[in-house]
Amino acid sequence: MNLTEMEIKDKPGDMKGLRCVACRAFYPLKLLYRCTACDGILEVERTEPVAGWRAGDFVCGDVTLGEGGTPLRPVSPSLLHPDFRGRLLIKDETRNPSGSFKDRLVAAALSRAIEFGARGIVSASSGNAGAAAACYAANAGIPAMICCPEATPHGKLAQIMAYGATLERVPGHYGNSFKRAMELSDERGYVNLTTTYLNPYGVDALRLVGQEIIASLDGIPPDWIAIPTSSGPLVKGVHQGFVDAAVPMPRLVAAQSDGCAPIARAFAMGLDIVEPWDTPKTIASGISDPLLGYPEEGSHTLSLIRQSGGQAVAVSDDDIKNAMLALARKAGLFSEPTGATSLAACRRLFTEGKVSTSDTVVCIVTGHGFKDFAAWTND
Ligand SMILES: *Cc1c(COP(=O)(O)O)cnc(C)c1O
Ligand SMILES: [Zn+2]
Repeated sequence: MNLTEMEIKDKPGDMKGLRCVACRAFYPLKLLYRCTACDGILEVERTEPVAGWRAGDFVCGDVTLGEGGTPLRPVSPSLLHPDFRGRLLIKDETRNPSGSFKDRLVAAALSRAIEFGARGIVSASSGNAGAAAACYAANAGIPAMICCPEATPHGKLAQIMAYGATLERVPGHYGNSFKRAMELSDERGYVNLTTTYLNPYGVDALRLVGQEIIASLDGIPPDWIAIPTSSGPLVKGVHQGFVDAAVPMPRLVAAQSDGCAPIARAFAMGLDIVEPWDTPKTIASGISDPLLGYPEEGSHTLSLIRQSGGQAVAVSDDDIKNAMLALARKAGLFSEPTGATSLAACRRLFTEGKVSTSDTVVCIVTGHGFKDFAAWTND
């Protein structure tokens, strides 16, 4: 069963306003990135959480490019481990219009931005969010300015340039690009579509990912869902989808690279507070965010992982490469390194005895292999 065939029991509730996850302050619907009282993360509050969200509840008809509704594909359990006898399914987010799940966030955030009268948009990005923003802005006929770290993979930069956005390459790690996009947004009066927790309307649309997984499994939740994780909006979306559907929450796995693992480190140390990471270094460019300036986003994500009884796991670049190869050679799925961290994390959890041999495991593969060739060069 796919989402469009899902029975809608109640009329999906409308957006009510924005709620601060930290101090619970409430704001009417407006363009706001943070709680003005405590600087906390904002989330969209809907009148009623229901299972039957449709894409149109998040994205305007003239903004959509057909994002979402991605397949949940069974693959050979041997990809996880030769001894694994359960079910392994891949949620293939490489199929989105610009090749990553960021299209879902950007389509929703841009829909609202246009309602709010945006004259242009900015986005900080490790590549994929920028490609998505450039893609959707081009289709909407709105100028886009994208700030990327200098080390961003060429495939992602090529997309941004092809879609005709203004590209600014910012020295240093992602945190600097994040700051630069904030400045540009202020200077120009452009709407900031940066896909951390900064734009609540974008994050809100990710609840469809959770809901689509439930629908694809005919309402029976899997035991595990593994998610390549940077600051964590995708974790939140999957979590929210299960809350909305009022079905048991799977164990959620935040998959990080051990070259940039602020959430996995806090999890391993039993801490509630995530601290920024010093010097990110990993082939997984899409999750190479040290959370400098907004570590509370990592703490929020960690709290959701814990609520689900899940795990936060850091895997090595070699583990990521091996998972990429397995996806390509045994499942015909070409993933960027970041996308394969979910499978790498589940392989680890199986060998540690946490994933058991009859479990149902969903790995979200978040971005396409055409975007990032880092794993295929010799240096
Ligand atoms: C952005 C990104 C992630 C991380 O998602 P968050 O929701 O920011 O944690 C994972 N994979 C890919 C390919 C991405 O582009
Ligand atoms: Zn607040």
